[in-house]
Amino acid sequence: MTDTKGRLFILSGPSGVGKSTVLKEVFKHRPNIFFSVSVTTRGPRPGEENGVHYHFISDEEYDALLEEDMLLEHAGYSGNRYGTPAQPIYDSLNAGKDVFLDIESVGMRNVKAKMPEAISVFIAPPDWETLEKRLRGRGTESEEKVLLRLQAAKRELDASGAYDYIVVNNTVSDAAEDLMKIMDRSHGILKGE
Ligand code: ADP
Ligand code: 5GP
Repeated sequence: MTDTKGRLFILSGPSGVGKSTVLKEVFKHRPNIFFSVSVTTRGPRPGEENGVHYHFISDEEYDALLEEDMLLEHAGYSGNRYGTPAQPIYDSLNAGKDVFLDIESVGMRNVKAKMPEAISVFIAPPDWETLEKRLRGRGTESEEKVLLRLQAAKRELDASGAYDYIVVNNTVSDAAEDLMKIMDRSHGILKGE
């Protein structure tokens, strides 16, 4: 049975594994997906646009959102704070859209506690060396920040067993294909595997 209700997908994986890259590929094929734009206190990387990749906000603005209970979940990561604005998620799901969150594992657990029907997917690197290479190759972080992110990556990899699915990002097209199969299965379009 297929239906038209929106599904909530939680995507996690260590920094630099390729989450944004794979999601971008999926969006080419599935333009109707709603991507949840998180708030963060970290500064924008070159090429990141306010309101598109993140809402870049100050610590004070972040505190105000917490106080007003506007965030579905929130967590710290590598010295910065991140949170998911709640209302756009509810609005999109109610409008029948699939929603993607790109959040870390604490956030995943908190969203699952509130919305157990959410589908969690961990994007894993083919191996540790490849992850290091991709993170450094992106060239967006100082060496100090790269090391912090590699530490956090170890914790994220340890949490991978808690996810409904694991997708290994070998090639972008294969990982995107795997993700789209998971989407189709959640809608009852694809059965088993
Ligand atoms: P994340 O969103 O998980 O932090 P990014 O999407 O920014 O990671 O990807 C990190 C780097 O790795 C980028 O430079 C990206 O072009 C590269 N990358 C992503 N997926 C692949 C892949 N399958 N093969 C090779 N390089 C990749
Ligand atoms: P980055 O700074 O590399 O964009 O993100 C760092 C980490 O924060 C990634 O694991 C990303 O998935 C996570 N993240 C981004 N937005 C949120 C959010 O709103 N909530 C939580 N819990 N994690 C987030």
